[in-house]
Amino acid sequence: MRSKLIKVEKMEIVSQLAASISHEIRNPLTVVKGFMQLLKTPDLSNELRDKYIHIALEELDRARLIIDDYLTFAKPAPQKIEKILVDQELRKVIDMVRPMANMNSVRISENVVTGCIIGSTQHFHQCFLNLLKNSIEAMPNGGELNITSFIDKDKVVIKIQDNGIGMTREQISRFGEPYFSTKETGTGLGTMVALKMIQTMNGTLDIDSAVNKGTTLTITFPWSNE
Ligand code: ADP
Ligand code: MG
Repeated sequence: MRSKLIKVEKMEIVSQLAASISHEIRNPLTVVKGFMQLLKTPDLSNELRDKYIHIALEELDRARLIIDDYLTFAKPAPQKIEKILVDQELRKVIDMVRPMANMNSVRISENVVTGCIIGSTQHFHQCFLNLLKNSIEAMPNGGELNITSFIDKDKVVIKIQDNGIGMTREQISRFGEPYFSTKETGTGLGTMVALKMIQTMNGTLDIDSAVNKGTTLTITFPWSNE
């Protein structure tokens, strides 16, 4: 009975996520449509025309950022629950963010060990992509990004450590809250999506952060040793 209950809850998390994605993408599209219609106004001044185009382009960028946070790895097929080799899949995500790290003078060091967990590989990728992107963005003047994983009793532990701007107590408490962002063009959705995905894999996330010192995220999953 208990496992059935948990399954239903997880399905809900996934369908809630799908619902919020369409909502999030529809909003900017509606704004773009509105401004495109305004562009048809007869005798529109150059100034207003430029302004409308600027807003429409900004909203399209926003839609793209939202898709990046939710759907980078989305496939049409339903989520497959499978064995995830943590070291192998983490390395794939690290390779994806390497160009972004290089551009920001962020040095990546990794020390990940073999460990197996159960979940959707697609979710795993999206989750760690969002978290690693945030760490790199927290170091606008460069820094060190350290990714480690190890096995502790019956858990697989993953640590993401940056020496970036860090978070205040309030920011820590709002981590994962939808739309909470301290960035000029942030969506405030990346951490929410990551947390939901960790939740569906029965994991936990712990934050240790200090302003101007950096942030360490500790993500823990049940170890599958079958
Ligand atoms: P976004 O990146 O679009 O702002 P997120 O949901 O990914 O939205 O992150 C929400 C907020 O959490 C960020 O704006 C930032 O304030 C904070 N945050 C997340 N990760 C870190 C980090 N590693 N260092 C400092 N702040 C962070
Ligand atoms: Mg983000």
